[in-house]
Amino acid sequence: MGTLRDRFWERPLDELTTPEWEALCDGCGRCCLHKLEDEDTGELAETNVACRLLDCSTARCRDYANRKTFVPDCLRLTRSLVGKLPWLPDSCAYRRRAEGRPLPRWHYLLTGSREDVHLAGAGVAGRVISETHAGPIEHHIVEWTDASGESDG
Ligand code: SF4
Repeated sequence: MGTLRDRFWERPLDELTTPEWEALCDGCGRCCLHKLEDEDTGELAETNVACRLLDCSTARCRDYANRKTFVPDCLRLTRSLVGKLPWLPDSCAYRRRAEGRPLPRWHYLLTGSREDVHLAGAGVAGRVISETHAGPIEHHIVEWTDASGESDG
């Protein structure tokens, strides 16, 4: 993962090194789910259908390093993109730090456990279906509840 500075997540996003940027992700898996956009209104609907590379039981990408080879349109989150993606969950570490907010209390960088995102109800592990056998995506519209509110204090 490279060298991470002490409490690097409290620094502005612009100051993070590449390994620190990568380490900021809590692994919730929400950004690996398909969204549907209403052609007329531009309104977005969330689904429980996951990218084919996502391991649905752990919510981890099965080939993160080479994902662009298999899924060319996989989004690469950058500092300039963070503020332009309204569907990033409120709990997303990138969104929160871009808005000057702290990490959620359950974030693994604070607790030491990558399971905590799922125990807090913010992750999608075990709650999604792969696009490879989901069928029509319109049948899978869901509303994900936000599990970040408890952390703002
Ligand atoms: S929504 Fe944010 S924290 Fe969750 S997996 Fe995507 S980038 Fe990581």
